[in-house]
Amino acid sequence: MDRTVSALFFMDDGIHILGLDKKLGVWYNPKLYEYVAGRRGGNMRIEILGVGFDNLTMEQAVQRGMDLLDTEGCHYVVTPNPEIVEICRENGEAREAVNKADLVLADGIGVVKGAAILKTPLKGRVPGVEFAAGLMEQMAKAGKSLYLLGAKPGVAEIAAQKLTRQYPGLVIAGTHDGYFQDDGPVIAEIRRSGAQCVFVCLGAPKQELWMRKNGPATGARLLCGLGGSLDVFAGVVERAPKFWSDHGLEWFYRLCKDPRRLGRMMKLPLFLIHVRQEKGRRG
Ligand code: UDP
Repeated sequence: MDRTVSALFFMDDGIHILGLDKKLGVWYNPKLYEYVAGRRGGNMRIEILGVGFDNLTMEQAVQRGMDLLDTEGCHYVVTPNPEIVEICRENGEAREAVNKADLVLADGIGVVKGAAILKTPLKGRVPGVEFAAGLMEQMAKAGKSLYLLGAKPGVAEIAAQKLTRQYPGLVIAGTHDGYFQDDGPVIAEIRRSGAQCVFVCLGAPKQELWMRKNGPATGARLLCGLGGSLDVFAGVVERAPKFWSDHGLEWFYRLCKDPRRLGRMMKLPLFLIHVRQEKGRRG
């Protein structure tokens, strides 16, 4: 081996590496990987435009989710896509709510591409809706209880019926639509239900801010911000067929189905422009 790593220094701006090289003697590489520290400390994250992502496969993410469910205290998971990263660039409160999450999962192919452009690759995409499915499978085996919060009136109830059939053993502790004015009664209802986990599907950044502010008061161990997932579980909105998602075109499928999303989707090219600018800055 021509090069060996002798020491790693965890600095504010990334990991600095000191090593030995057969030809060069001592070598030093500051900032090999940018990172932001996680809330629990020492949890390495990959930073993209100010948002730190956990570098996990789907299986690892689900396992972490289950571990959090078995850990004292209240925890929350966020699933940012490029649109949410762009929201976080402009909104400091949203950025803080996202970065303070216990798990930050790379929802969109755009995030994975962004990480690759910045030469800090992620293991892969962890779409929120698939993470939720994996978690429910495990929760069902463990007999855990789940509260569904969000979407238009009636949608969470339909999702609850379908999910109860799909995941025998999973306890649906309650449901509530996402169009309420006052947080208090909703928090009290979740608390009364005794749910261990809450899917919070209010759209971004509302759901991230809601979980950060109200999570502990719900009494749940784990809250997951999952955007339009209840619409998918209820069958109100279809997910893109496999061909489209395999080719990174899920966003295009959703745009074709709902052209009103065009304004929001313009954040995707903007995200890639900002990533390229960031790449230029990092050199
Ligand atoms: N939503 C809600 N309350 C609100 C605003 C939105 O419950 O005040 C719901 C909306 O009905 C939808 C979800 O939040 O079910 C957001 O879906 P979207 O497609 O925007 O999320 P994505 O999956 O694209 O992040």
